[in-house]
Amino acid sequence: MEINTVGVIGAGQMGVGIAHVFAAAGYDVRLMDVAPAALSTAVARIDAAMDRQIGRGQMDAAGKAVALARIATAGDAEALGPCDLIIEAATEDEAVKRRIFESVAPFLAPHTLLTSNTSSISITRLASATDRPERFMGFHFMNPAPIMPLVELIRGIATDEATFETLRALVVRLGKTPASAEDFPAFIVNRILLPMINEAIYTLYEGVGTVEAIDTALRLGANHPMGPLQLADFIGLDTCLAIMHVLHDGLADTKYRPCPLLVKYVEAGWLGRKAKRGFYDYRGETPVPTR
Ligand code: NAD
Repeated sequence: MEINTVGVIGAGQMGVGIAHVFAAAGYDVRLMDVAPAALSTAVARIDAAMDRQIGRGQMDAAGKAVALARIATAGDAEALGPCDLIIEAATEDEAVKRRIFESVAPFLAPHTLLTSNTSSISITRLASATDRPERFMGFHFMNPAPIMPLVELIRGIATDEATFETLRALVVRLGKTPASAEDFPAFIVNRILLPMINEAIYTLYEGVGTVEAIDTALRLGANHPMGPLQLADFIGLDTCLAIMHVLHDGLADTKYRPCPLLVKYVEAGWLGRKAKRGFYDYRGETPVPTR
């Protein structure tokens, strides 16, 4: 199936990155969000990220201008009507995602593929609430989408082969690498990554080490490019907590119990980089640990 126009729902960290990837690869993009503030900054954020690519010699100024001109922003679902593919990248909350699929469905053509960039939520359950479970899939880009080479592909129980093959080929066309995961809580990457991050937060909570000691230990002792608390701030602590809840509820094992300190940070609104405060305070020149 041919994909020409891609609709991205949610102009947060992931939606902006995904819109960037598709525009740079020659697709028309409609980027939709209900928050006017997210939409008003989205194109400027993509512009700045493309400048960084120009700096690295991965794009030129003419290519950037053409790519940016392919992106249209919208505040309502009706604007997504002409899309061949929808990628939902809104907040990691099942009720929010279900309402989005319900609101967009009346505007879509029968052939349009529906996907979710969810980090953890059941694809089969999300698909079952739509009018097209056979053309629904998990399409999981990593953060930051323009840089990370992996896309996890997750079939729901009803996903048909044509949908899977179309999306697999699309990932390859984007120059990225697909990995297939079965539809179980948090799939592959986050099934492994998030318990490690949660354990790092327990290590902080129990006083085994400071923020700085824990991140330094994993960077230099395990050769991780970022410390786990740095990474948690980068992902967003609300997203980390939502994923731990999905693991805990879905697998019913106490090893997935979200750390109370993670809950406290989220309740404080200290959601990491996007809120300028999390395990580090980002309001100054350099990040300062908050514990
Ligand atoms: P974010 O908090 O940065 O952005 C979420 C955006 O969704 C916000 O701009 C919000 O206004 C918008 N939104 C909320 N309700 C909406 C609605 N009804 N309609 C349209 N837009 C709506 O979150 P994010 O980090 O971009 O994560 C988005 C999705 O991507 C989540 O499902 C998350 O699990 C997944 N994801 C996140 C990461 C990561 O590292 N942050 C990586 C891979 C996948």
